[in-house]
Amino acid sequence: MEQRSEFVYQINECDNVAIALKDLEKGCEILPGVITQEPIPQAHKVALKDLRQGDAVLRYGVVLGTVINDTPCGSWINETSLNLPQRPSLDSLTWGTNLKPVSELPDPPRTTWLGYKNAEGPAGTRNLLGIVTTVQCAAGVVKVAIERMKKELLPKYPNVDDIVAVTHPYGCGVAINAPDAVIPIRAIRNLIHQPNFGGEIMVVGLGCEKLTYDRVLTEEENIPENTLTLQDYPGHDAMMQAMMDMADRKLQKLNLRTREELPLSDLLIGMQCGGSDAFSGVTANPSAGYAADMIVKGGGTVMFSEITEFRDGVHLLAERCVDQAGRDKLVKEVGWYDQYLDTGKVDRDANPTPGNKKGGLSNIVEKAMGSIAKSGSSPIVEVIGPAEKPTKHGLICACTPASDIVCGPSQVASGIGLQVFMTGRGTPYGLEISPVIKVCSRNEMKDHWFDMIDISAGDIALGKATVAEVGTEIFNMILDVASGIRKPYSDQYGFHNDLCIFNPAPIT
Ligand code: CA
Repeated sequence: MEQRSEFVYQINECDNVAIALKDLEKGCEILPGVITQEPIPQAHKVALKDLRQGDAVLRYGVVLGTVINDTPCGSWINETSLNLPQRPSLDSLTWGTNLKPVSELPDPPRTTWLGYKNAEGPAGTRNLLGIVTTVQCAAGVVKVAIERMKKELLPKYPNVDDIVAVTHPYGCGVAINAPDAVIPIRAIRNLIHQPNFGGEIMVVGLGCEKLTYDRVLTEEENIPENTLTLQDYPGHDAMMQAMMDMADRKLQKLNLRTREELPLSDLLIGMQCGGSDAFSGVTANPSAGYAADMIVKGGGTVMFSEITEFRDGVHLLAERCVDQAGRDKLVKEVGWYDQYLDTGKVDRDANPTPGNKKGGLSNIVEKAMGSIAKSGSSPIVEVIGPAEKPTKHGLICACTPASDIVCGPSQVASGIGLQVFMTGRGTPYGLEISPVIKVCSRNEMKDHWFDMIDISAGDIALGKATVAEVGTEIFNMILDVASGIRKPYSDQYGFHNDLCIFNPAPIT
């Protein structure tokens, strides 16, 4: 059971630390017999008993590390206090030993939403014309053309929400046949087929790049109606006119789309966190996990990601995989990522940021335990690699990097209709293709960015709200945003990040 006073919050009864609910002064009795030995900043850990050098520090009932020095009861424990444990082994991970029956998940308060049905796969949450480049060389032209399209064409098509440039640094000057090049190539292929683009394909190439149309389009799709090659056109005006004409034809078709009432099984969303603090794992992330459980119970699909942030809990995820194929794929993807980091001569503990540490997260183990909470408690029905598309309904583990601006585009390529983003420190992050709902972990964050954060989960740490209450609020906002009834702040302001697709293969 958790323990709470007006000063601190102890999550698990096995824990020998608690986190400060506010900045604490020296000499403050935070729990009976526990007196702070020094000032403790908000969100940081306080030792609840005397610890000897080498003793384990437990939070979430999990060993975060061992203390480097003797640490008296009431002392501040931070990133300088702990030795990092070994990363869990990937050998002989058990699967299927911790499967919560879907019938035990919380019931969703609503079971339908309004979306744009697609011929196959998840429905769209927006009706967008996506213009995708095969190479960065074409990006400048596409951006200028889109400005003109928005002025001259878009007003004629009221059912189309927007026109989006899908540009990226890939396509040429790369080792296109390198084994790991499959990752950026499938990201671009799957971005072309993003559910919010409604099956209308407009791909713009330069004409001499390595990423040829046949690598991202099927034979049926690779036709002049869907592709435009800049080097084919004599000068600026002809090029622009060709782009305007093609966009006009695509917009006519997209304008015929309308929202219809759909079951949750047509909904695919993503979960991500960034700028986390020590409250993220007890307020915002578990609330998002509760909303995820509701969507899964209703037949929908939710993906969570961020491999470096779940690496230290990989054994916990394996236990939730419904089959051996899921466990094996998890081991393969995580093993590949271990090697990727090893090649760069870094460890997964290179992940936490100065902001994370200022927010009380001492190391990657502590960050991982909080990060995993956003997956809720559903069984994991499928594990996919970065930018792959899920083939099942339910909870999906998508093995992407944890970087906010790389995880986002990976999930967008995997087909998410929107993303729920949890933060402790605050970020204006947003995605142009799929709306982003921002949930913060502390009320101070919401007070500070009152008109940029959509929901605060901060009351949970204060005992003024439950995970179920905030989780239900998040669920309802997910359905409202997916249905086009509400816009999250990031969309209201147009705060949209670049599409940084993940390319682990060599540049030449
Ligand atoms: Ca992230």
